[in-house]
Amino acid sequence: MAPEPAAVIARSPLQGQPQEDVGELVQMALDVAGSLDPREVIARILERGTHAVQADRGTLSSLVDDHIVVEATYGRAGELTWVGQRYSLDYFEGQPLVKKAIESLQPAFGGRLAPDTAAPEFRQALANVRHVAVLPLVHGGKVIGMLVFSRYEEKPFTEDDRAPLTLLSAISGLALRNARLYEEGEAARQRADETAARLRAAVDAAEDVASQLRLDQVLGRLLERASASVGADGASLARLEGSEMVIESTPTGELVGTRWPLMPRVLAGVTSGRAVELSAAEYTGAPPGMESAVQPYRRFLVAPLAVGGETIGLLAMAKGGDEPFDPAAVQSLQQFSTLGALLLRNARLIEQTREAEQAKSEFMSIAVHELRAPLTVTGGYLSMALEGAFGELPKSLRNVLETAQRKTEEAKSIANELLTVARLEGKALTPTVSRVLVRDAVTRAVARARPRAELVRASVQIAGDADLAILADEAMVGKILDNLLNNALTYADRPPTIQVGAQVEGRQVSLTVADDGIGISVQDQRRIFQRFTRGTDRLVTDKPGTGLGLYLSRGLAEQMGGSLQLQSSQAGKGSTFVLRLPAAGS
Ligand code: ADP
Repeated sequence: MAPEPAAVIARSPLQGQPQEDVGELVQMALDVAGSLDPREVIARILERGTHAVQADRGTLSSLVDDHIVVEATYGRAGELTWVGQRYSLDYFEGQPLVKKAIESLQPAFGGRLAPDTAAPEFRQALANVRHVAVLPLVHGGKVIGMLVFSRYEEKPFTEDDRAPLTLLSAISGLALRNARLYEEGEAARQRADETAARLRAAVDAAEDVASQLRLDQVLGRLLERASASVGADGASLARLEGSEMVIESTPTGELVGTRWPLMPRVLAGVTSGRAVELSAAEYTGAPPGMESAVQPYRRFLVAPLAVGGETIGLLAMAKGGDEPFDPAAVQSLQQFSTLGALLLRNARLIEQTREAEQAKSEFMSIAVHELRAPLTVTGGYLSMALEGAFGELPKSLRNVLETAQRKTEEAKSIANELLTVARLEGKALTPTVSRVLVRDAVTRAVARARPRAELVRASVQIAGDADLAILADEAMVGKILDNLLNNALTYADRPPTIQVGAQVEGRQVSLTVADDGIGISVQDQRRIFQRFTRGTDRLVTDKPGTGLGLYLSRGLAEQMGGSLQLQSSQAGKGSTFVLRLPAAGS
């Protein structure tokens, strides 16, 4: 909001005045408007003005609401005194000149101010005064201040002085207004800067807080940031449970898990969504035996943690000093509360999901264990029967028992697969990592697949760098390769050719299993790594399978710090899967 000197001059009402007056006052306008500091503007108005109107003293006052603030006074001898005193407008009731100037918006002169009706501290000064001119400082049709010029000698202000006084009043009013506006603008800008800085701090805090993985760390960091922002000495975050709160986090970890009753005043505040400030005397919420926890503090600020209109917790700040919390701090706490509420709710949801997953995995492993035991018994009896332990079997019965044995084995392998899934999801599978030679892992897997490969007359080729080594769990790698080879042998409509390759890729080794089988449609490609998900092709659904192999294999690869992906596939042309695992240094 910078003043424009050109505008000041353009608004000058001076027309047809003696040239020297115009010159001096225009110079003054430029001079006065050249500064944006209200104090400097006032000083310049007083110095220049007092000389220009040949007064002995000039005093400038601002009109603020119903008060007059005497800003400064300047004596011709050259001294400027800052006053800053505030008076009710009523003080000037007994000064008709002042009244006239304010009411008419025109300079008023022709007499002196009445010392006997003036405020006591003015009486002495007014006693010397012979003549006075009161200039209203007008802006936008309103009086915003007043300039009073006094002459100590017998030299009255006359009509000849009216034009320069009017001009002086206009210039001064405008300059003062501009300076004030600038000051207000600056203050507004500063407030905006402060708000921006607070928001930036909140965003920083959000990022910082969100980068912590564990809930206790997240909440700890939130408390740290919030306390720093409001200048608190102590802090806690609690969740609400009925009319009690349970402490979730404190900077030292002390009191976590303790239950505190909610004071009615806090409850009323938080249910209406407002932060509540309390003095030590008003704080009565400590449960018996825990009073010492709040004793060091003199002031408390409690903000609700609300999400979706529901208050789920409280953020409390405490200070050792007696002075209240800064209102700006209270506002910034609001941002931390929003963040805290979201974190708390998300953490709860994550925890609930994790608990549900855990319960499901536990159920699955119990169920599978229960299933495996009778299958083992049945399998055992079937083997014994087929080996002749119960005597010679008629051919028809042998065929039936052989089928039953095959199906039992299938059921057992499904049960084993389910058990592995349950352990993987229950985080009960930890890899035992060692240096594994790729060649060994591959040749062993291919050897295990040989009987099935021969059955479908497949050709299995091993290519690539034979001397590579990986850091992996040998049994897990074996399980993944078994699954990939099995799928390659299964999903083919003619004797397949399968190629197993290995190569270094940066810090990883990639193992590829490529086949020329039926391939995977684009829609199926997106789903096949999901649990219990199988392809939709008739050639797939006709064959037995659980839809767990790839899901499990990917999980195992990830457990070892690796990955499993479908590198490429085309319906009718075959598929290539790639397993990446950390390379072992030579
Ligand atoms: P399952 O083999 O028991 O169905 P998987 O998780 O091992 O379960 O495989 C999921 C699906 O991915 C299969 O049903 C099949 O549709 C597809 N698939 C996997 N490997 C191949 C492959 N080599 N060629 C064609 N389709 C495959």
